[in-house]
This record gives sequence, structure tokens and C-alpha cells, in this order.
Amino acid sequence: MIGAHDLSWSYGSAQVLSAVSLSAPHGRVLGLIGPNGSGKTTLLRLLHGVLASPTGTVTVDGDRLAALPAREAARRVAVVVQESGGESALTVAETVLLGRSPHLSTFQRTGAVDHEIAAGALARVGASHLAGRSFAGLSGGERQRVLIARALAQEATHLLLDEPTNHLDIRYQHEVLGIVAGLAHDLHRTVVVVLHDLNLAARYCDDVVLLGGGRIAASGPVEEVLVPEVLEPVYGIGIERVRAGGQLHLLFHPHIRIQEDSRA
Ligand code: ADP
Repeated sequence: MIGAHDLSWSYGSAQVLSAVSLSAPHGRVLGLIGPNGSGKTTLLRLLHGVLASPTGTVTVDGDRLAALPAREAARRVAVVVQESGGESALTVAETVLLGRSPHLSTFQRTGAVDHEIAAGALARVGASHLAGRSFAGLSGGERQRVLIARALAQEATHLLLDEPTNHLDIRYQHEVLGIVAGLAHDLHRTVVVVLHDLNLAARYCDDVVLLGGGRIAASGPVEEVLVPEVLEPVYGIGIERVRAGGQLHLLFHPHIRIQEDSRA
């Protein structure tokens, strides 16, 4: 469980987030959504401690993240950000093994158990066949799966992902998010994922936090937040909600101008 209490952040004099609180329980996927520039990535960075909010706290299973030694924090929280490792000269197998670092002491080398865990993580994301390939030579979709495998090998119970579907074609978007949702639903991990595509959020998230105007404009189960009355003032366009094949879908009507939320 990740808890955020009263987080704020400014870049220079520009306040990006103020008084943001949220809770992400085990076994569920929490989506961070909102228009471009609404602070989703900034919030994710606050949640994994790469940025430290001058106000408020982040807790992981009740313990303050900032007070945990780095190695312990990395055993609890794994992060998948977009551009990590692009220039790496490592193979895929070596890249995934890096996820074992928080479990090794300073001069300890990876052992049979680490290799087994890394191989299991690659298998889980359907990428065992890539093990011997150069990481830098992979396609975007393959890379994303390998980075998720590295996070899995880290065996952290909390996983934070920043737009894991960016630059992926539609099939890979669904594949990657299917894997991510499985981690929450099958392995009972806590998953927090930044998504800008509301239809992907509708399909794969259990709960969403909608950012707008530097604050949480709405939060709660997908069914309650992804409704036109809530979304239209934040995004400033007409939105229609339909159901097809048992699945919630949002249709966008940009020609219908909506009065933007006064908080934005
Ligand atoms: P989102 O992920 O929702 O697009 P971000 O968290 O990336 O939003 O950015 C929120 C706001 O903060 C934007 O206005 C962005 O331009 C600004 N911003 C982000 N990173 C920096 C930075 N390193 N320095 C200055 N401003 C930044």
C-alpha cells in the first residue's frame, strides 16, 4: 500500500501540485490521469522519492519512504520510467539481473537464485526468447516488457510506471497493460501507472486519480470518475460514455467546447 499525504511541488515559482493525497492499496491498479502538464509525472516522481515534497509524506506499507535506506526502499518500490537504459550495452538477461541489485550486498555477485528469479520475470512478460539479445537493439514494445521484467526481478511489492504504453502500437499497449494489471490482480502487487489515454485507463485501471489545475480534480473507482460531468471541465472538450462488448469506452467530441474548470 502506498499512501501520499498532502504532497506539493513547484518548479521554481511555478506551483505544479498542491495538497495531493492518495492511497494505492495492494491488488489494485491505480491510474494517474489528467491533461498534459497536469503533474502526473511529477506526482509519480514524488511517490518514488526522486523528488521530495517540501510538505507532506509518502508512506509504503505504513513506513515513511524518505526514512527507509535506499536498498530497503528499492526492495519495496520498483519504477519503470520511459527512457531508462536506452544506451545500455547490456544484454536483456543482464538488464533484468540488474533488478536483483537491492538484494545483493556490496561486493556480492548474482547467484543461481538471482538468475532463476530473473529468468522467471522474463517468462512472466513473455520475453524469454529475448534473453540473449542486446537491450539497445530492441523495439519499444520489447524494451518495455524487459523493463517491467527488471522491475519484477526486483521483487518489490509496489510498482510505479510512467506511461508504459508511450510509442507502442495498439497491440503492445494492450499486451503491456494486461501484464501490468496481472501483477496487481494475480500477484497482489500495488500498481500505480501514469496513463494519458483514458480508454486504456478505463480498461486496465481499478481506480483513477484525475489531476487538473494542480490538484486532484476527482478520484475513485474508474466507473465513478470516468464520466462526462467529471472529465469535461478538466479536459475542456465534449465526452460521451458508451458501453460496447461489456467494456466502458469514451468518445471525444472536440467541437463541443466545455467551460474549463475554474480550478484549472
Ligand atoms: P504531466 O506528466 O501531467 O504531463 P508533468 O508532471 O510532466 O505533467 O509536468 C507538470 C508541469 O511542470 C508542466 O507544466 C511542465 O512543463 C512542468 N515541468 C515538468 N518538469 C519540469 C522541470 N524539470 N522544470 C521545470 N518545469 C517542469
